[in-house]
Amino acid sequence: MACPVPDRVTSGFAHTPAGSRGAKLGGMSNLDRAPVPSVCGGRGFVVAEPVRELLSPRHVQLGESTEVRRLLPNLGRRMIGAWAFVDHYGPDDIADEPGMQVPPHPHIGLQTVSWLHAGEVLHRDSTGSRQTIGPRQLGLMTSGRGISHSEESPRPHARFLHGAQLWVALPDEHRDTGPKFEYHPDLPTVTAPGLTATVLLGGLDGSVSPGTTYTPIVGADLALRRGTETRLPLEPDFEYGVLAMSGEVHVDGVPVLPGSMLYLGCGRTELPLRAESDAGFMLLGGEPFAEELIMWWNFVARSQAEVEQAREDWAKGSRFGEVKGYDGAPLRAPELPAVPLKPRGRLR
Ligand code: MN
Repeated sequence: MACPVPDRVTSGFAHTPAGSRGAKLGGMSNLDRAPVPSVCGGRGFVVAEPVRELLSPRHVQLGESTEVRRLLPNLGRRMIGAWAFVDHYGPDDIADEPGMQVPPHPHIGLQTVSWLHAGEVLHRDSTGSRQTIGPRQLGLMTSGRGISHSEESPRPHARFLHGAQLWVALPDEHRDTGPKFEYHPDLPTVTAPGLTATVLLGGLDGSVSPGTTYTPIVGADLALRRGTETRLPLEPDFEYGVLAMSGEVHVDGVPVLPGSMLYLGCGRTELPLRAESDAGFMLLGGEPFAEELIMWWNFVARSQAEVEQAREDWAKGSRFGEVKGYDGAPLRAPELPAVPLKPRGRLR
């Protein structure tokens, strides 16, 4: 296949140093007080050939003094496969802080992936789950037609908290499935000299995650030792992106610093990687998600009416069950924007 890779890296190279401030961290939910609706999905967004498109994060203030770096949805790109939401947070020093404190809130139409490089998160949800998730362990929550959950730093907790919160959109045929939570502490790994890849969703080089998936997708966490040069096998039908979390990795020749993401398009059979220092990053990919979506607050939907109904159900305490044991009141849904949401897509 002849897929020329452009020499130019599209979009400016904006480096954001990884965070260092602690305090109250709400990293695992969309806590925006005025969430901006996002229309995404649809083939019009997909780049059919290999590209190197550097995505700058949007800095989102959560709580009083904590900031996360939002990579998806992004002005430059809404989805990568079914991956529809990516926040990177930390490393934050929370030694003298409460750390993450996200009160019960609802979800529809998605799976949430909790992924840590340092620290731990205590997850509770309306199916009765209560689980502490540690570094490189998979907490995978499938909302289906409706679930609610809370996330908090346990007491006591480790000094540093560093991780990513990711959402995977459910396809239409599975979005009304029942809610469930999966915890997979021992994930398969792929190793090569200087490289360890942990497969959290889908498969990579023959290793397959036990996590339930509903679309062809992959999520892998990679640790590269300084000086390592290697090539990662890819599926040409998938689109991919790399989220850098620590160190300095060059992805297909492009330096990607922590808190940034490089979108890679489709049509690749392998990905050249070089570590300038010990580096940690995530590979996210999947078959381009053809359905058009509306994302608002913590909901992934297909119509305005569906969003309104979910908001109303949460406000009156139905459909989303109850999270037991969280010390605090549930989150209230923000007001819907005055302008109706429409799944038109084709926005970049
Ligand atoms: Mn959540």
